[in-house]
Amino acid sequence: MEFKEKSLKRRNGSMRITRREFLKWAATSAAALGLSQLDLLRLEKVLADSSAPPVIWIQGASCSGCAISLLNVTDPTTVDDVLLNHISLKYHPNLSAVAGHMAMEKIEYEMIDKMGQFILVVEGSVPTSANGKYCIVGEKTDGTPWTMYQAVQDLAAKAKYVIAAGTCAAFGGIPGGNPNPTSVVHLDEIVEKNKVVNLPACPVHPTHLVKVILELISTGMPALDGEGRPKAFFSRKLHSNCPRRGTSRAKKIGEFGCMNGLGCNGPNTYIDCPLVKWNNGVNWCIGSNHPCIGCAYPGFPDAVSPFYKF
Ligand code: SF4
Ligand code: SF4
Repeated sequence: MEFKEKSLKRRNGSMRITRREFLKWAATSAAALGLSQLDLLRLEKVLADSSAPPVIWIQGASCSGCAISLLNVTDPTTVDDVLLNHISLKYHPNLSAVAGHMAMEKIEYEMIDKMGQFILVVEGSVPTSANGKYCIVGEKTDGTPWTMYQAVQDLAAKAKYVIAAGTCAAFGGIPGGNPNPTSVVHLDEIVEKNKVVNLPACPVHPTHLVKVILELISTGMPALDGEGRPKAFFSRKLHSNCPRRGTSRAKKIGEFGCMNGLGCNGPNTYIDCPLVKWNNGVNWCIGSNHPCIGCAYPGFPDAVSPFYKF
């Protein structure tokens, strides 16, 4: 961490860095975050605007992996710092200092005060069995349980944009796999499609998420494909960019080579994993000698199972 102790400030118990320091960090971390010069210019414009739209993040049927993925960028500062202090993250079930009634009041206040202006990020799919009671977001200020099913409908109706973060929110994912006892649905099934950006992958890729939030608040809706995914990240099959195309075939998991005969789903899955990679660009599934299991594929996991062919 290059920021001096004296430059850190505390507000509401969270560590803060100044706007200037953040811009300096963003400029030096542009490659790691996948930000272009254009993104940085947009970012500067956004940060100059103290009335940047708030972001509300809610979690449904999920493993919290998408939230963890977002936190994966840690050096020289963390994405929670970016979200909490620089793009107005108003609520996040794992990151917010507030909980319980205070959190619910905050969400209700943001819904009313910023009606139509906030970005809703949804992690996880939405259980609908038993009127949605398999997943309760919290208790509303009047004491009634607020199901995820109802929360998505209430918040999405008032949000300017909705991001389906990860395969569960975008396509149903693992909670939606057979037999799907809680009857989960994905966002497109209950939210107006024209305000939803689908960011599949299990978990969501943090660079995709950060870039889409920046684009939404700086220029608006990105160009989407027929599945509601940004064309910038999902226009080509993974196989098209795979550096192992044309190499000799691996005969078993862990061996170097193309894994076409071992169940690799790269030929069916649209995403830019070979270019953006994971863990700040360190590696990715196929780089680790493991087949792509198609975690960003719309039918994941059932449609791409079994993951391996031996
Ligand atoms: S390893 Fe998978 S994605 Fe890469 S070339 Fe082979 S089949 Fe295609
Ligand atoms: S390489 Fe395949 S399994 Fe791995 S993260 Fe990318 S889409 Fe998912």
